Amino acid sequence: MNTMIVDMRAGIDEAAMAQAGEILQAGGLVAFPTETVYGLGANALDETASEKIYRAKGRPSDNPLIVHIAKLQDLYRIAAKVPKKAEALAEKFWPGPLTMIFQKKDCVPLKTTGGLYTVAVRMPDHPVALALIRAGGGYVAAPSANTSGRPSPTTAAHVAEDMTGKIEMIIDGGSVGIGVESTIVDMSGDVPMILRPGYINREMLEAVIGEVGIDPAITGADTTARPKAPGMKYRHYAPKADMLIVEGAEEKVISSINTMIEKELQEGRVPGIIATEETKDRYVGGIIKVIGSRADELSISRHLFAVLREFDEQRVSRIFSEAFDTPVMGQAIMNRLLKAAGHQVLEV
Ligand code: AMP
Ligand code: MG
Repeated sequence: MNTMIVDMRAGIDEAAMAQAGEILQAGGLVAFPTETVYGLGANALDETASEKIYRAKGRPSDNPLIVHIAKLQDLYRIAAKVPKKAEALAEKFWPGPLTMIFQKKDCVPLKTTGGLYTVAVRMPDHPVALALIRAGGGYVAAPSANTSGRPSPTTAAHVAEDMTGKIEMIIDGGSVGIGVESTIVDMSGDVPMILRPGYINREMLEAVIGEVGIDPAITGADTTARPKAPGMKYRHYAPKADMLIVEGAEEKVISSINTMIEKELQEGRVPGIIATEETKDRYVGGIIKVIGSRADELSISRHLFAVLREFDEQRVSRIFSEAFDTPVMGQAIMNRLLKAAGHQVLEV
């Protein structure tokens, strides 16, 4: 299949957008930018279209897709029950990086929900994404547009690496703003529960609706717990090299990573280091990448997946990363890094 790449970095190209809408309505696949990561879209109400997403990504069929909508009324056509608290969260955070889970209506195929009787719904905050959802008929199922197991794509070039020849169109909307996937909150039980951390954190949710729980499987406190979001059980975001996160006071982290760098270099290997603007000049060797600045945590989340992809290309022997317990997105950032590292952490 020939994959068309359409440039909408400077604004929406109406003719190309109409064509993208036709592709979706005919059951094809279009990758598009959102404020979190790039999505791989198909008509959510067409089960054969949803199936194509699983095939293009190599995604396990029990890992459900998020349905993207462009207007609030459309939520009521796919969710069987919308609690008041969900309406309050939608009012505050939509369009935005928040996904909510509801009991589904029959019109949503089980192929889209990975066999579950619940459906995950989000309204993204990106003009290109919203225009595409409207052009495609209102309901776009879209997971991240990467091959399963690779870091999520935060540029159109990342999407092209994984999806060229497998999908009809990629819409280039430039780099994303947030860089990690949406917060997922299950609204189908008594107490709303965070199933995946993202930019919208627990405090922000609780300020609107009161008590919100966190799935114990994502805090890492209980390693035997089975995550409620099926996708969270897979080892996502895996870079090719073995990765270690070093956590502790800054001086100790730097000296301990330097000791490990020296050992790698002595043995003829080249390690990769995930550093910050603040620490980049303090490492003794290897390929040092600045993920962002601690003074601006979005700069860290935005570059996280790109840095992991770059290390794959450079074939580093190991990756050493600082830890990022930043105030708003610390949990979301560390959740992705810990997965990339297969939970290998050195406390110093
Ligand atoms: P992605 O779109 O690639 O970020 O993946 C979507 C995430 O949403 C996966 O972790 C899924 O397991 C999760 N998800 C989607 N629908 C549901 C649902 N109905 N119940 C629980 N988790 C869901
Ligand atoms: Mg994904």
